[in-house]
Amino acid sequence: KELPADPTLENSRRQVKKACFSYVTPKKTKKPELLHVSPEMLSALGLSEKEVNSASFLKVFTGNSVLPNTTPYAMCYGGHQFGNWAGQLGDGRAINLAEVEHNNKLWAIQLKGAGETPYSRTADGLAVLRSSVREYLCSEAMHHLGVPTTRALSLALSGDEVLRDMLYDGNAAYEKGAIVCRVATSFLRFGNYQIFAAKQDEETLKAVVDYTIKHHFAHLGKPSKETYLKFFEAVLDSTLEMLIHWQRVGFVHGVMNTDNMSILGQTIDYGPYGWLEGYDHNWTPNTTDNQFKRYRYGAQLDIGLWNLYQLANALYPLIGEAEGLERILKSYNKKAQDQYLEMMRSKLGLFSYEKSDAELIYSLEETLQLTETDMTIFFRTLSNFSANNSSKGLSVIENAFYVPNEVSDTIRQKWNTWFKHYAERLQKEETTSKVRKEKMNQVNPKYVLRNYMAQLAIDDANKGDYKLIDELFQLLRKPYDEQPENEKWFVKRPDWARHKVGCSM
Ligand code: AMP
Ligand code: MG
Ligand code: MG
Repeated sequence: KELPADPTLENSRRQVKKACFSYVTPKKTKKPELLHVSPEMLSALGLSEKEVNSASFLKVFTGNSVLPNTTPYAMCYGGHQFGNWAGQLGDGRAINLAEVEHNNKLWAIQLKGAGETPYSRTADGLAVLRSSVREYLCSEAMHHLGVPTTRALSLALSGDEVLRDMLYDGNAAYEKGAIVCRVATSFLRFGNYQIFAAKQDEETLKAVVDYTIKHHFAHLGKPSKETYLKFFEAVLDSTLEMLIHWQRVGFVHGVMNTDNMSILGQTIDYGPYGWLEGYDHNWTPNTTDNQFKRYRYGAQLDIGLWNLYQLANALYPLIGEAEGLERILKSYNKKAQDQYLEMMRSKLGLFSYEKSDAELIYSLEETLQLTETDMTIFFRTLSNFSANNSSKGLSVIENAFYVPNEVSDTIRQKWNTWFKHYAERLQKEETTSKVRKEKMNQVNPKYVLRNYMAQLAIDDANKGDYKLIDELFQLLRKPYDEQPENEKWFVKRPDWARHKVGCSM
């Protein structure tokens, strides 16, 4: 029998066999400096504001000291990248520090950018300030939007310089190194199961599945074929729930590879993600995916199913027959369609059910794509529409058009028709317009982390000014509130930011 490598003797980059993880020690950094801490995450972990200022907080959450009685580790996983099996990937720049139980909740704490691991392959195990600001701000923003997500406790500078290719000019440049402390119920991904199925290592596969069930799906029962099927169905349901939220808020993940799919249906790996500005099913923030747009906004639900097929394949050896898995997979499309329409109806303030709703929604999607129309502003201002005056519809949402005077008469006519149907539909609702507006404003955020906002914070941060990180963090704590003092962030993307998107590395 092949034994796992000795973690203390062998910690080089390699193919790791018969093991779910490898022990690693975070890298010491030159001059660690804490830039921001999430108060919500702090209290969720049972830490106090006072502790933030202690020397040990800084050291622990930048990897410069290891908590007593803990053994940090990096996880082994594989994945399908852009549709192709990529073999072993693993935590190449993430190191799990420990797990914390507080208020009956279990949290896994992990550093991203704390140095190399056996899974670093050809890369350095580090993260730059740019990508770390994006991950830090967005994961907490998603939490406040009510989207299941991994969280972030802290953002820190390492004090080291990191060499990166700049995406736009192709030149290499040094950037400030940074470390985000990420937190999640679990960081297990589809790829954590796939890797052992691919290696035909059923023993480890069973061990990691049984571990997952014991710690995260105990209510499903003791490990058995039946429990494995229930587990798969639960993963399908939570994955779908997460994806419906993404569609609701206009979030495009950008790299929905199976190694970036959390087994708990939490948004994970904030790389080249982006937010829809112009509502466009074809949009992806990922410039490396520009040709096929595999991970575009309009494909996210379908890709979810594709990824679940890969997970089903990985679980198959433990179940031994395909029928049950297939039955569950076959339920996906109907569930997805029903939940999608339900979600869209909530965005439109429709609380009763009419058969014609689907048509109203699909015609809205079509009309929205006739001319560049800001998704967030459109849905937020739609709640100001009054059903008694359908001819005013266009003026209510006019501000969502990127170039209003380019909106042709034909398109305006289409909008008028749509508003007429919408007004008729609203007449069938029993809720008052005041209540409808309130409810719509709870699902249609006013503030999201537009790419240019993150970019402004990054530009300042690279110059040593971190105020905007805090300003955006505070803004995004209450994305559904009016916040009149922050109206300057309720605007369309400025022209200079049109074709720029954030980058992941
Ligand atoms: P991603 O595209 O971010 O999902 O990353 C794919 C794989 O590459 C994962 O296994 C990451 O851990 C690894 N990876 C990404 N960036 C780095 C880096 N700077 N150093 C080491 N591994 C990395
Ligand atoms: Mg990843
Ligand atoms: Mg990444």
